[in-house]
Amino acid sequence: MSGDFSENKVDVIVVGAGPAGVSAAITVARGGKKVVLVERGSFAGSKNMYGGVIYSHAAEEIFPNFQESAPIERFVGEHRYILMSEKDSTAISYKNFENKTNSFITIRANWDKWCVEEAVKEGVYYAPDTLVKELIVEKGKVIGIKTDIEDYFADIVILADGVNSLLAKQIGLREDIKPKNVALGVKEVIKLPQEVINQRFGLQSFDGLNHLGAAIELVGGPLEGMLALGFIYTNKDSVSVGIGVCLEDLKTKKIKPYELLEKLKKHPAISSLIEDGELLEYSAHLIPEGGYSCVPKLYTDGAMVVGDAAMLVNNVHFEGTNFAMLSGKFAGETALDALERNDFSSNTLCLYKKKLLNSFILKDLYTYKDVIKTLSSRTGSFLGYYPKKLNEFFSIFTCADGKPKQEKFRKFTLDFFRKRSLSELFKDAIAGIKIVFGILK
Ligand SMILES: Cc1cc2nc3c(=O)[nH]c(=O)nc-3n(C[C@H](O)[C@H](O)[C@H](O)COP(=O)(O)OP(=O)(O)OC[C@H]3O[C@@H](n4cnc5c(N)ncnc54)[C@H](O)[C@@H]3O)c2cc1C
Repeated sequence: MSGDFSENKVDVIVVGAGPAGVSAAITVARGGKKVVLVERGSFAGSKNMYGGVIYSHAAEEIFPNFQESAPIERFVGEHRYILMSEKDSTAISYKNFENKTNSFITIRANWDKWCVEEAVKEGVYYAPDTLVKELIVEKGKVIGIKTDIEDYFADIVILADGVNSLLAKQIGLREDIKPKNVALGVKEVIKLPQEVINQRFGLQSFDGLNHLGAAIELVGGPLEGMLALGFIYTNKDSVSVGIGVCLEDLKTKKIKPYELLEKLKKHPAISSLIEDGELLEYSAHLIPEGGYSCVPKLYTDGAMVVGDAAMLVNNVHFEGTNFAMLSGKFAGETALDALERNDFSSNTLCLYKKKLLNSFILKDLYTYKDVIKTLSSRTGSFLGYYPKKLNEFFSIFTCADGKPKQEKFRKFTLDFFRKRSLSELFKDAIAGIKIVFGILK
């Protein structure tokens, strides 16, 4: 353990050294209070995986000068969306040539480790290799933790123990996760020479030396008809390829996630990007998918829940780490306030929820509250039929074969309606309207 932790009582204990936990702990330490960050892994990040992108706005709030020393693989210079059918694909690419630092790609094992090192420099007591087995509760108030080593006590315990959060469950803040509210992410990291990545992905240099990265999202193809998306992120000299699939879909369709990933890697749109690469690692992790309606009670006497443990993820935009970091910061600030008032009850800790409500976190989750539900009722259409039809349209649009275009477009249109009954189209239109109005209202 880093730092002097001779007494078993501190001001705040934070469980879990992911983005949420480290942000909470550093905020408390900056307020001059004694805080312990407990992590079950041998080092921060050793148990964590994700797709690949961290958002600069959140990183800057916690580590204002992070760009000087953080282990950044590449700044994201392009967002690409590839809609696949079995035999072709259509890509939409967005590039912003002015704002290179909106987001960056980093490897979690490196990023989390760097964050903890920074936190320790600022006075956080860090306890790796320490599993918190349960919370110590006295007269309904959380007063400490039981670890596999010994018991520790604090005025406030912040639960940043990730999507499964057994600790939030123990004190009744969370229920068991339902398969429809969670996705399983599986990912491979594939090694390729830097120049090959730059050339295959068409990545530009921004200072003559370093090249920007690409964040690619994949729809359809082998994932067709499931509440699932694929992704590719370009590291410096490796590429992360993965999928996130709703657990319920995997269960009902009896599909193995690694088989699905294998199929995705063999799709011509993907295989050409990763061919001749060497597999470095394979990992899997759950992603909270439930959105606003699944956010649990966020605090109780003596405890607050942050990040994935509080199901704070916006999976429409692939945002989780920024929600984690800022929810951690809000909980840290609330803890400082409670210590100032010497009141660790829900009366003071409710301030944490107010901060979340006033921020983009709960506002965005509210905006998207029906999107996943609506999408999951029409996955066959939005994540299957329409991407396929879009590809068909472009195959006609781009084909010059000496045959008149009108005939082809007529056949395409007739086919479009023949294969989709009016009632299906009507349901899709209603779902589309629901999504758009849900977001705009
Ligand atoms: C496949 C996939 C792709 C993703 N892609 C992105 C992306 O590109 N961008 C993005 O912003 N987000 C992404 N996310 C989401 C993002 O990873 C999470 O939202 C984020 O990591 C949440 O941070 P956290 O600190 O709340 O939890 P975690 O990162 O899960 O950290 C929890 C920590 O708690 C520790 N812990 C758990 N239980 C205990 C215990 N009992 N005792 C001690 N320690 C404990 C764990 O070891 C871990 O270190 C992705 C997630 C997945 C799975």
